[in-house]
Amino acid sequence: MSEQKVVVKGGLVLKPDGLFALDVAIEGEVITEVSEGLDTFGSRVIDATGCVVSTSFYDTHTHSRYPGDSEAETIETLSEQGLLGGYQYLLAMANTEPTIDSVSIWKAVREELRKAPIEVDQAASITIGRKGERLVDFVSLSEAGVTFFTDDGTGVGSTKLMYEALKMSELLGVTVAQHAQDPYLFEGASMNLGATSVRLGLIGEPEASESTMVARDIELLKATGGRLHVLHVSARESINLIRMARNEGLRISAEVTPHHLLLDDSLLSNFDTSFKVNPPLRSKSTQMAIVASAIRGDFDAIATDHAPHAYHSKQRPFSQASFGMIGLQSAFSACWTAFSEPPASPTAIATDHWSHRAASRIGLEPYELQRLHRLLEMMGPGAARVVGRRIGIEPNAQASIVICDPTARSVGKIEDIASHSTNFPYEGRTLRGSVVGGFIRGKEILREGKLWF
Ligand SMILES: [Zn+2]
Repeated sequence: MSEQKVVVKGGLVLKPDGLFALDVAIEGEVITEVSEGLDTFGSRVIDATGCVVSTSFYDTHTHSRYPGDSEAETIETLSEQGLLGGYQYLLAMANTEPTIDSVSIWKAVREELRKAPIEVDQAASITIGRKGERLVDFVSLSEAGVTFFTDDGTGVGSTKLMYEALKMSELLGVTVAQHAQDPYLFEGASMNLGATSVRLGLIGEPEASESTMVARDIELLKATGGRLHVLHVSARESINLIRMARNEGLRISAEVTPHHLLLDDSLLSNFDTSFKVNPPLRSKSTQMAIVASAIRGDFDAIATDHAPHAYHSKQRPFSQASFGMIGLQSAFSACWTAFSEPPASPTAIATDHWSHRAASRIGLEPYELQRLHRLLEMMGPGAARVVGRRIGIEPNAQASIVICDPTARSVGKIEDIASHSTNFPYEGRTLRGSVVGGFIRGKEILREGKLWF
C-alpha cells in the first residue's frame, strides 16, 4: 500500500453512464476523489493520457486446476496471469480433483486459495462428484459460505435435479450456474456442427444442444424462483431466450467468453487442438451475432473460462484431446479486438459533441468509445454483480483500478503468458488494446504492463 497520495491523471474513467475525462486520487486503500483537474501537489502522478481507467476486472469463470492438476497450472501462475490481465477477483470452478462437493473440501481449498496474491473465490458443485445423480448438501455448504454452485464442465442433464437445485437457490439465496449442454446432443462431439465439422469428418454439436437446456432451465426457474447464471453462452437462440426471461423479470444472468467473441470454427480446419473448447467455437455468423449481442448489452459479464491443460493432454488426435484454452491474461485484448470491427451502420449510433471530444482524446471513434464502455462494464461492475458485489470508481470505494491502452497493438505469444500450459488460441494473432497499469486496494500491482510488487 502506498502511503503517499497517488493521482491517476489524464485518462477516461469508467462511470455507469460512460467514460469521462476525470482524475482519480488514491490514499491508502481507498479512492478519495474523482474529479476533473485534481491538484497533484505532493502526490505521485500516474499519467493515464490516452488510456481508460476502469475498475479492476472480475472473472466469473476460472479453472484454477487446484487441487489436482499442478502440471497444468499452479496458484502462482494463475495469479500472475490474472494480475497481468487486470483482474482482482477470480471465481474458481468446482471440476477439480477431487470435486468441490463437500464443506470439508471447500474449506480446505479456500484456505489454500486465500494465500494467492489475487482474490480467488471457490464455487461448489451442484451434484456429488459432478455425476448428475445426487445433489450436494446445499444447506451446509451455504452455511459455510458458498454462494455459487455449478457442475461446470458438464451440464445438469436431469430436469429433476436442476429443479431441486433451483429450489435450493430460492430457499438459500445462492446462485446456480449452468453449463447448458444437452448430454445426448453433445455425445461424441468434439466441435460445432456445421460445414467445417462435415468437411473434417468430426462429430459436431448443434447450437440447439445449448439452447434447449437454456429453455428448460428458464421454465424451471419460473416454477421455482431462485437465481440462474448461464455460463459461456455460445448459441444465438440462447441469447434470445435469456433476453426474454430477463424482460419477464426472472433472476437470470449470462456470461460470454473472449474466445466466443473473437474466434470461429473455421480455425479448426487444420485440427489445431488449441481451438478445441467446450462449448465449441461456433460458425462465423453466430460469432458475429454474439459480438452484436454483447455490444447491445445482452450479457452481464465477460468470463474467461480459462482452462489450462498439460501439454500432453492437447497433443492427441483431435477427438481425444482435452477441451479448453487459456485466456485470463489476454481477455481484455481479445474482447476489445472482437469489439473493434466496424459497426453495421455507424450512422445509427447517436453521438454528441461530448463523446466526440472524449473519443478523440484516446484516438477512438465515438462508436468505439461506447463499445469500450460496454466492455469495461462487463469485465468489471457487471461481472462483480454476478457474484454479488458492487464495485465502482467513486470516493470511498476500494482503490482497485486497471489502466488500459485501447490503441496499443501486440502479437499474441505464448512466451509472454505466465501459464504452465500452452493451449493459447491467440498465438501469432494481432490483438488490440493492452492492460498497462493497475492498483488493488491501493497497492500498485502493474506498471508498464509488468507486475510491480
Ligand atoms: Zn463449462
